[in-house]
Amino acid sequence: MAALESHVIIGAGPAGAKAAETLREEGFTGGVLLVGKEPERPYERPPLSKKVLLGQADPESVYLHEESWYRDRDITLLTDTAATALDREARKVSLADGSELRYDRLLLATGSSPRRLRVPGTALDGVRTLRTLADARALHGLLRGGDRRVVVVGAGWIGLEVAAAARQYGNRVTLVEAEATPLYCPLGPEAGKIFADLHRSKGVECVFEDGLFAIRGEGSVDHVLTSRGVELPADLVVLAVGVVPEDGLARAAGLRTDNGVVVDSALRTEDPRIFAAGDVACFYHPLYRRHLRVEHWANALGSGSAAARSMLGRNVSYDRIPYYFTDQYELSMEFSGHADPGSYDRVVVRGDVSSGAYLVFWLSGDHLVAAMSVNTWEVTDILQFLIRSGTPVDPDALSEPRRPLAGLIAG
Ligand SMILES: Cc1cc2nc3c(=O)[nH]c(=O)nc-3n(C[C@H](O)[C@H](O)[C@H](O)COP(=O)(O)OP(=O)(O)OC[C@H]3O[C@@H](n4cnc5c(N)ncnc54)[C@H](O)[C@@H]3O)c2cc1C
Repeated sequence: MAALESHVIIGAGPAGAKAAETLREEGFTGGVLLVGKEPERPYERPPLSKKVLLGQADPESVYLHEESWYRDRDITLLTDTAATALDREARKVSLADGSELRYDRLLLATGSSPRRLRVPGTALDGVRTLRTLADARALHGLLRGGDRRVVVVGAGWIGLEVAAAARQYGNRVTLVEAEATPLYCPLGPEAGKIFADLHRSKGVECVFEDGLFAIRGEGSVDHVLTSRGVELPADLVVLAVGVVPEDGLARAAGLRTDNGVVVDSALRTEDPRIFAAGDVACFYHPLYRRHLRVEHWANALGSGSAAARSMLGRNVSYDRIPYYFTDQYELSMEFSGHADPGSYDRVVVRGDVSSGAYLVFWLSGDHLVAAMSVNTWEVTDILQFLIRSGTPVDPDALSEPRRPLAGLIAG
């Protein structure tokens, strides 16, 4: 009788855990090994910059599954275990403790990590990033007193969420951003301004079109110096300037990397036994007809599951529309599509921004390329349908709240 196959997943985040789950759901009976370098079993990161920072999360609620869940499915979970090298010829993964794992199929789900800035002072006490549960717990401890001078560098999703949490405790918060508006890359300036106005209305000082030049202090941070020479007193600096894919293992093993591990729409690398999913994967998106790397929770789950099916030889074409959500103060938002500057030529708002509940659409010609719903629920499916189908839409109909969205599908 042939020996059972063994599938190894490197990276015990949501993409890796979802892949392990799908392998079992799809009937794979061989070995499933999930290897993660963090001490924790797989958990969700979105609550870290929201409920965990605000002290509102039940500590157990962030985990994807109980420990018994892995045992019940015969999934071997190795935590605190870093994979250090791949030997593609021998089909082995080396681990930091010197041991090796043999694989028949391998999934790289190593995620991403905060981008480091090469400026003086980032090693001072009081300079933080936010990626892990440990980071979030530590930051919560620092923010909750409400008496800090906090400088957040980077007005992307995580920077804005940290700024919101810090303000909600009453800390003095300054947001430093190189672009003229927050979220410039994912949303462009029009919607970015909405977020700038929101944060200013909550008392956040916004220093935009300026960069981090240095962090200064003796042992611990005392102030931040911007490129334009503004001195910002600080006892806590949070660097939130994006993430970089953890693709070093793949690169060292000779696999193609280019802003992540390059895979096709079935999430396969050029090595037919090796796959990639989640933040680390730069995959060919059949709808956009180009490679994309998506750093969002829904993509981690969707691509983790799709990669597992692909590992089992199923026919897979992963074409999920990028989706993101955020909570800042009383604003809850869902976003679908791609709205980076250059990908649209018009922005249309439906409803009154000052009411707190509205929709924003990004159009290229008469096609919807992205949409955001703020404090408005159950519209994501219909918006994603409009984006995916390429149905021509009338901007006047889009902007008119009395015209039902469903009516737009019929034209
Ligand atoms: C604070 C925060 C808030 C977020 N909020 C949102 C949100 O509101 N909405 C949203 O859509 N997305 C959000 N995201 C993004 C989302 O969490 C990520 O897209 C998602 O976690 C990606 O999952 P992943 O499994 O690909 O990677 P990760 O979650 O990064 O998991 C990868 C794991 O692999 C491990 N690993 C790396 N290298 C090795 C190695 N060599 N050996 C073993 N293990 C290794 C890492 O330690 C990590 O645990 C947020 C992210 C953060 C940090």
